[in-house]
Amino acid sequence: MKNGYIFLGAPGSGKGTQAKKLLDASGIPSVSTGDLIRSEIKRETPLGLECKPYLTSGKLVPDTIIVRMFKQWVETHAVATFISDGFPRTIEQAKVFDVLISQELGYTVTIVFFKVGLKTLKKRILGRRICPKCGNIQNEFFNPPLVSGQCDRCASAFETRIDDTEEIIQTRYDSYLESTMPIIEHYKSQVITIDAEQGPDEIFVSIRKQLSV
Ligand SMILES: [Zn+2]
Repeated sequence: MKNGYIFLGAPGSGKGTQAKKLLDASGIPSVSTGDLIRSEIKRETPLGLECKPYLTSGKLVPDTIIVRMFKQWVETHAVATFISDGFPRTIEQAKVFDVLISQELGYTVTIVFFKVGLKTLKKRILGRRICPKCGNIQNEFFNPPLVSGQCDRCASAFETRIDDTEEIIQTRYDSYLESTMPIIEHYKSQVITIDAEQGPDEIFVSIRKQLSV
């Protein structure tokens, strides 16, 4: 059986981290449409060239082009199982996806929904500290620095991202829910919900168990 797992979750839900962990542990490849578009444009493929005018004029690349790109990736990799990181994210995209990936290529599509509350997301995002010198990442709430404001590894001062405020996180979360809930509704019985309030290792265990991978 051929399986396509669509990872959906708000920014900060940890779905990207989990996709990487699954690749390392089970060799399941994951694909994100952002990476796909960038790579097609860079390699100047026919689909890449089709995308270019939209991007240069600041417009969204049409869903049909994105799904064709996606289909090409799936066909080229010829894998029994793949993970799609965050795509399809709208009902319109899901409809094209269903035709090209489910019907034409025969993949069974399952949504893996990373459910996490706003309170936890705020802690994850606002508590995040990145060391500009050594790249070490810590969190004020989950693994606080030994000396406040300083990297545990090299003692440099941490950078704080000023673009992430509580208000921005809230707005991003609301618009995320608004666009994702219809997808969850669309796939109904094909949705697996993961408790993404847990730490990364616990999340990983429950994904492997629920997906049998
Ligand atoms: Zn450091």
